[in-house]
Amino acid sequence: MDIRSQVSMVFHLDKCIGCHTCSIACKNIWTDRKGAEYMWWNNVETKPGTGYPTKWEDQNIYKGGWEKIGTTLTLKGAGKQKGLLNIFHNPNLPVIDDYYEPFTYKYLDLIESPASDDQPTARPVSLITGKPIDIKMGPNWDDDLSGTPDFARNDPNLKKLAPAEQEAMFQLERMAFFYLPRICNHCLNPACVASCPSGAIYKRGEDGVVLINQNVCRAWRMCVTACPYKKSYYNWHTGKSEKCILCYPRIEAGLAPACMQSCVGRIRYLGVILYDADRIHEVASASEEQLIHRHLDILADPFDPDVIASAKANGIADSTLHAAQNSPTYKFVKKWGLALPLHAEFRTLPMLFYVPPLLPVMASVKEMGQSKQVSELDPIAKVWDDRWLYDTSTTELWGTINEARFPLKYLASLFSAGDENKIADRLKKLMAIRIYRRHKTVGDISQDKAMKALEAVGYSPELADEIYYLTSLAKFDDRFVIPAAHREQAIEMLEFTGDTKGSTGFGFKEGTFQRGL
Ligand code: SF4
Ligand code: SF4
Repeated sequence: MDIRSQVSMVFHLDKCIGCHTCSIACKNIWTDRKGAEYMWWNNVETKPGTGYPTKWEDQNIYKGGWEKIGTTLTLKGAGKQKGLLNIFHNPNLPVIDDYYEPFTYKYLDLIESPASDDQPTARPVSLITGKPIDIKMGPNWDDDLSGTPDFARNDPNLKKLAPAEQEAMFQLERMAFFYLPRICNHCLNPACVASCPSGAIYKRGEDGVVLINQNVCRAWRMCVTACPYKKSYYNWHTGKSEKCILCYPRIEAGLAPACMQSCVGRIRYLGVILYDADRIHEVASASEEQLIHRHLDILADPFDPDVIASAKANGIADSTLHAAQNSPTYKFVKKWGLALPLHAEFRTLPMLFYVPPLLPVMASVKEMGQSKQVSELDPIAKVWDDRWLYDTSTTELWGTINEARFPLKYLASLFSAGDENKIADRLKKLMAIRIYRRHKTVGDISQDKAMKALEAVGYSPELADEIYYLTSLAKFDDRFVIPAAHREQAIEMLEFTGDTKGSTGFGFKEGTFQRGL
């Protein structure tokens, strides 16, 4: 056992309202600069949709992440050999059109235009050429237009769904969607680190934040290819790659990252998670069916005496251990079993977890004749002109989960490497809490039914209240349990990343030493 600590994150998707405040907070602090105009270290996508950069999830196009060939784990499109082959032309890099052409508006026209009968307008101008452009797309262009053919129907996650299942998703006024906020996952097995020919990218020992050393970066852009989440970006002005730094200067000062502090929906949680570094290789190379289970299993119990002893032997401070014991992310991911990683099949072991969205599951859309629709619906309910029935009846406890407007298969493609049972389990838990709270607050659900719902998912009423508190009422200090910075005890995980690049993970079992000051 070799226990390390990581500052990890949970995003509760039922709470995201898609306001993009997080993206703007990040943009204002970090990427409002020359060469970084197109970068959104934090972005919010509408799902189903193609995302930013477009179709980033399709690794047949971008060749990001790791692949398991036999028993060996290799980078899909980067690494020593592949990097050399693509040295003069890397076909797997996203180009500016895959992101979007960054633009601004000629706001001064609003003020300085001569008097006329018509209202002046601020024309969009390209931030690259300075010339007027017709905006065709942007980083959040598909916002609220999930059903549109250009975006929703090209979502790579839909490949696994039958045409009828896809169609069901796009009915109901073409508005079946949810928001997916994304930042760098500060992975345990980061493909970006392993791919860098210059050894410029490293994972900080003390908190797991993945950073690019700007003095060492030589513009190979292998990290851009290797990151399957496309969260490493190339700055054309400085000639260096850059990425989300999890606002480490703020974390070191005890503040939450800007995207989290500003989050209007209060969907974001941040806290320490302990993990067993001895098992990273084994977990990252697990079979696809085992990936999620092993990934969650590597996260260690902060109350276990053996875990505490190993953590202390590695120089993890008592204050960090205390933070791990109070960590909201540990609760959501491990204690309550509610949150899952995004696209675990990329095998980078992301340390950002998502509580999958329940809301769409409370109703389903079924294909049936119009006369059947009329007979199924309440007499005052709207009858659709087409053959789809929007059904919100909940005659039995888990009735709608398997007929969800978002098929389990779709959510499983995002959050559980295709395992639908894992998604159903999370949704049942969320539903059980909702049923229990409705019994308590509205009173139209019997105690018997509410208790049955909790029992079925293994929750007690006290636990359900605890989850409800952290989900709905939690204060700032409950949502962000930030460990005190201990630079004097920082453990350097790597001797030199360049020695191990392209091999398994990032080879931090080479040894540790005190970085000190
Ligand atoms: S998401 Fe993971 S692989 Fe991508 S830049 Fe962040 S740490 Fe690296
Ligand atoms: S600020 Fe919060 S609620 Fe708003 S889009 Fe970002 S994650 Fe969602």
